Amino acid sequence: MALRLYDTLTKEKRDFAPLDPSNVRMYVCGPTVYDFAHIGNARPVIVFDVLFRLLRHLYGENHVKYVRNITDVDDKINDRAARDYPGLPLNEAIRKVTEQTERQFHDDVDALGCLRPTVEPRATEHIAEMRTIIDRLVEGGFAYVAADHVLFSPAAMNAANGVLPRYGALANRSLDEMIAGARVDVAPYKRDATDFVLWKPSKPGEPSWPSPAGITTEGRPGWHIECSAMSWKHLGETFDIHGGGIDLVFPHHENEVAQSCCAFHTDRMAQTWMHNGFLQVEGEKMSKSLGNFVTIRELRENWNGYSWPAETLRFNMLRTHYRQPIDWTLNSLSESHNILCDWYDDLKDGSPAVAPIPNEVLEALCDDLNTSKVIAELHTLRKRKQFGELRASLTLLGFSGERAALHRTAFGQSNFRVQADLNVESLIEARTAARARKDFKESDRIRDELAAMGITIKDGKDADGKPVTTWEIAR
Ligand code: AMP
Ligand code: ZN
Repeated sequence: MALRLYDTLTKEKRDFAPLDPSNVRMYVCGPTVYDFAHIGNARPVIVFDVLFRLLRHLYGENHVKYVRNITDVDDKINDRAARDYPGLPLNEAIRKVTEQTERQFHDDVDALGCLRPTVEPRATEHIAEMRTIIDRLVEGGFAYVAADHVLFSPAAMNAANGVLPRYGALANRSLDEMIAGARVDVAPYKRDATDFVLWKPSKPGEPSWPSPAGITTEGRPGWHIECSAMSWKHLGETFDIHGGGIDLVFPHHENEVAQSCCAFHTDRMAQTWMHNGFLQVEGEKMSKSLGNFVTIRELRENWNGYSWPAETLRFNMLRTHYRQPIDWTLNSLSESHNILCDWYDDLKDGSPAVAPIPNEVLEALCDDLNTSKVIAELHTLRKRKQFGELRASLTLLGFSGERAALHRTAFGQSNFRVQADLNVESLIEARTAARARKDFKESDRIRDELAAMGITIKDGKDADGKPVTTWEIAR
């Protein structure tokens, strides 16, 4: 079956043809380890896990190499370490923060049903490769040293002849646009506003390594160079798929392409560039100040009054196509939970017969990971009582099919419950009003909305014969 993937660079869905079918290679930008991963961070992890599973299905388990890095050198890590462990030397505090965050991350994404990547390289273990690339860039005239920094020059790249791609091609911007958009407070040591940091000096006490390009003081790498170094080390100069969230296209991925192509004199870094859309919560951008910042851990432990099973989170994520934005809402999460409960109930009672994955499911998945279409196919399989096929498809997507995995605890006393109860009451009021004006379409819609929230309603009459509606939580 032909796999077709949407490529951010060429802006089209194309047939996927690996450079070497016996070694399909994918790199995905991983977490910066300083805090619990939020539900937006979970999106690329889940999306590319589905792709990893599909590639393994198509090319064989031992013929796919998936690399997802861990960024363990970053200002945010240093700040967190100084804040959380003020008594410790900074380097020790940093190790504590990164090790602990990495453990939390693994615990969360393991629970979400994501396979571990083939390699999970840490940035701090690839400083030598970063220095090599930086030296090559300076020798090639693409980078220069100024004030103990090494800076990459996009203008030099675009002035060079040969196979190199144009800087700005991935993000679809021109250098002039980027210069116009550059901030006014450009560092004085930069030749051009668009030049970006490959290497910089470390402040006293910060992690530091011997510098490249003849700089005599120690320093540390910029963010973009990490991924060029780790993908090179583990996947080679050019590989098949590079992925991450849409926010990484510019500047991070644009700069990765620039570094790798100029260092290795290649016309491309990856054959296919894939980016997942952004996730927002209840209609708003997730942010700490808005108070709607949700970590994977919170969802698993207590979000809006429930501990949500990790498989429910995974399923809710896959109901939306990966390139579309997701609005993460309590309604859709409850609905996802109920769908999975129904399916798993059927699987428990239905025939355990082993069945192949139906073509319709594979075709939808091979059509640029159309998981929403796949889920529609799964609804059909259930309707037709093809439980063996349903189970096989769920397994391919990384679901256990085990009813026990969907255990959900409700926390009756949380603020959410008060809020949720108010929502339920006001929805029931709106439904009663709709019924009174004989707008049954609207009253049915509200009943369905309540059902999606896990609320069952019962219509009756009170002692005076007036209609009343009572409700209860379905599960
Ligand atoms: P970071 O640790 O911020 O570099 O992010 C790790 C990964 O999560 C990157 O691939 C980001 O693009 C992705 N990401 C961050 N926030 C969101 C979001 N709200 N929705 C979807 N993906 C996100
Ligand atoms: Zn990266």
